Amino acid sequence: MSGGLKQSIVELATSLKFSACGFSSVGPVPNELNDRYKRWITQGKNGCMQWAANHMDLRADPTLLLPGAKTVIALALNYYPRQFQPLEAPQFAYYAYGEDYHKVLRRKMKAIAQYILSETGEKSRVCVDSAPIHERYLAQRAGIGFVGLNNSLIIPGKGSYFFIGIMLTTLEIEPDEPCTESCVQCRACIRQCPAGALREGEPVDARRCLSCLTIENRGPMPPWVSGVIGNRIYGCDACQQCCPHNNHVVATEVDEFKPSEQFLGITDESLVSMTAEEFEEIFGRSAVKRTGLQNLRRNLAAIREGKSQ
Ligand code: SF4
Ligand code: SF4
Repeated sequence: MSGGLKQSIVELATSLKFSACGFSSVGPVPNELNDRYKRWITQGKNGCMQWAANHMDLRADPTLLLPGAKTVIALALNYYPRQFQPLEAPQFAYYAYGEDYHKVLRRKMKAIAQYILSETGEKSRVCVDSAPIHERYLAQRAGIGFVGLNNSLIIPGKGSYFFIGIMLTTLEIEPDEPCTESCVQCRACIRQCPAGALREGEPVDARRCLSCLTIENRGPMPPWVSGVIGNRIYGCDACQQCCPHNNHVVATEVDEFKPSEQFLGITDESLVSMTAEEFEEIFGRSAVKRTGLQNLRRNLAAIREGKSQ
């Protein structure tokens, strides 16, 4: 295909507020990554994310997700907030401040898929946590960033507060060079992880990760969590906040991620007294909706237990 069309896709991605857009060929993932992932599952380190063990064959070979796929397009959308919750309020991870990223990212990526279809007739598949795929590996391969010891994708000069979206397309596009940079290995993320979920060179241990335990967990909270949860009601940003690659981040320009006044006004007390209707009003369009008010209150109980210790 012509470089002109590749450039047009990048320009469209930029106009849709994506901060990075890279391209790679499609093929099976390296055995080393596959083996490490299988070990993570076998050791039970996926914790409550049972879905992570599904469709290992598709995860190992993204070409199976779209017959005839030739290119991966990796995209990154900034979610770093413009406005923050008061520090004394129960803290939500930055990524959950606004509208559900699945919907926002999917809408924008579908616009790119539609453009490719109308210009070339080629098909695309948009993957936003909706397909078993090694997003960060593919993003690195497409040249947009590297994976830090904190397991986040870090975009050189821009940091890690990005949603990553992967598209497969049957359109052949000249690949970019893989990103060969690496994090500065300061190990702050390992030291600052409140729950000991990070180890050098290993995927995060979801059984201990507060992000998994406060968001994905649908059962009771393990008793030890109250000793480390701090004021985190939903998710955890500790291993990103301490990362020097995030020292000069800029706030998102995506309006959908702007927090509402009601969200910014949440307190311990308002969570306790919140009705189902009020929860729907604040979180109806948010990823928090899936976790539900009952589980937020479970998390709040762990926070209060911790404060009383
Ligand atoms: S999200 Fe929090 S608990 Fe999970 S690995 Fe990072 S610092 Fe640790
Ligand atoms: S905190 Fe340090 S070790 Fe961890 S990802 Fe960032 S640069 Fe790498």
